[in-house]
Amino acid sequence: MVIGTGYGGSVAALRLAEAGVDVHMVEMGMAWDTPGPDGKIFANTTTPDARSYWLRTRTKQPLSNFLGFPLDKDVPRHTGILDAEEFGGITVYQGRGVGGGSLVNGGMAVTPRRENFAAVLPTVDAGEMYGTYYPRANAGLGAATVDPEWFETADCYQYARVGRRHARRSGFPFVFVPDVYDWDYMKREQAGTATRSALAGEILYGNNHGKKSLQQTYLARAKATGRVTITPLHRVTSVAPAAGGGYTVTMDRLSTSGDTVATKELTADKVFFAAGSVGTSKLLVKLRANGALSRLDGEVGAGWGDNGNVMCGRANHLWDPTGALQSAIPTAGIDNWAQGGAFAEVAPLPTGIETYASFYLSITKNPHRARFTWNAAAGRAELNWRTAWKQPSIDAAKTIFDKINAKEGTIYRTDLFGAYKIWGDHLTYHPLGGAVLGRATDNYGRLKGYTGLYVIDGALIPGNTSVNPFVTITALAERNIEKIIDTDL
Ligand SMILES: Cc1cc2nc3c(=O)[nH]c(=O)nc-3n(C[C@H](O)[C@H](O)[C@H](O)COP(=O)(O)OP(=O)(O)OC[C@H]3O[C@@H](n4cnc5c(N)ncnc54)[C@H](O)[C@@H]3O)c2cc1C
Repeated sequence: MVIGTGYGGSVAALRLAEAGVDVHMVEMGMAWDTPGPDGKIFANTTTPDARSYWLRTRTKQPLSNFLGFPLDKDVPRHTGILDAEEFGGITVYQGRGVGGGSLVNGGMAVTPRRENFAAVLPTVDAGEMYGTYYPRANAGLGAATVDPEWFETADCYQYARVGRRHARRSGFPFVFVPDVYDWDYMKREQAGTATRSALAGEILYGNNHGKKSLQQTYLARAKATGRVTITPLHRVTSVAPAAGGGYTVTMDRLSTSGDTVATKELTADKVFFAAGSVGTSKLLVKLRANGALSRLDGEVGAGWGDNGNVMCGRANHLWDPTGALQSAIPTAGIDNWAQGGAFAEVAPLPTGIETYASFYLSITKNPHRARFTWNAAAGRAELNWRTAWKQPSIDAAKTIFDKINAKEGTIYRTDLFGAYKIWGDHLTYHPLGGAVLGRATDNYGRLKGYTGLYVIDGALIPGNTSVNPFVTITALAERNIEKIIDTDL
């Protein structure tokens, strides 16, 4: 059984099925295979509706304000696609549904520099990762880089060209990064010969065309084996050793308004936790505390980080427009990791109007790590992250943007995250850790204390990857499942 259908879960399911194992995937979100009343499966970013948020009655947009106006609005409570999960000091954005984060993310498929990977996961053989598993992951995900010639002339990447000009004038390297979006489709969107998706501002709440989410890649191949069953709208609540061997997995069947309509128990020989860094950590700390899996290691719940995410915008001069038409798919970044501890994604602001704004999501070297614990009285998992812990991320991002502002004679936008607030320091898109490789598990994701229980998602990575994380999550899953199939099955 695989709990969750994101990157780690999809890799596990495909490789197990190819090895002849029957796999049952359980996913708490929806299947996302049926169009809504407007004929589209996914809602647009500028017009969120019931499909957009996981069980909220009001949207919680990462950019909460624009030109002084709040952007959030009421929506019907529904098992929508984007979860803005709130903990004490941070809102953690995650995808919900068959495909996990691949449904909502920007598709930036970035392989970290080898020396940075080695610093993050020193017990993993980097030679194997860069020789075998990163290439395997990138091929499986369909990662590719924008055609540089087309990029120079495409209206929809004017914002990225402005970002490049400003980066270079301040002496920063500007790097193209691969993405899983179908670049030929994007060209046709720009040429007006295909229905617009990236160019219609689709991101965050799903892409109706063009983006190769896991449903188009790993999960499609997994289903084609005939050995994989996917059960959506079921949330796993417990895993415990079964009397006759294996594990009893308990799950709630959810209605689309989030109510539990049935509870089921199934038995599985082996269980893979792939519910994402937050989902896996929450489940495991609960199961250790309530005695269902009391032998889990004390490291379970620890080592959680936000990949150093922090957002900001810059206000450009009127002679430096970033374009009314912006592709929602980012394609490049500013690499100041070695000098300043920041890699800044040049991000779109696809509002449909000229904003004269440059917008960035920075991934920074933030040393703070939080821990999940189970609060039995409240019946929920808690995370002890503090908002003030974002200061090192802000300082790192400033090594890039203070310099660019000084050079360009520009200022930070103060209207995107609330009144007079420069930094988007309240959120992360990249939760990592909570069941760290080599600490809560052995060096291949086998949970300490139990045979046949594995972690195979972003929970294994200790809080940071130096770049956007899903390629590393996928590559590590490829490495671990190969070993597990060879030795445990
Ligand atoms: C808005 C946004 C943009 C992003 N952009 C990028 C990007 O451009 N590049 C990049 O590399 N990364 C990006 N990310 C991050 C990336 O999507 C995640 O790192 C990745 O999805 C994590 O993979 P995973 O396998 O750990 O878990 P997930 O992909 O999170 O999958 C976990 C799945 O488990 C399900 N689940 C959770 N709990 C349970 C339970 N109890 N029972 C059953 N199912 C459960 C969830 O619903 C989910 O579908 C972005 C994320 C967001 C939110």
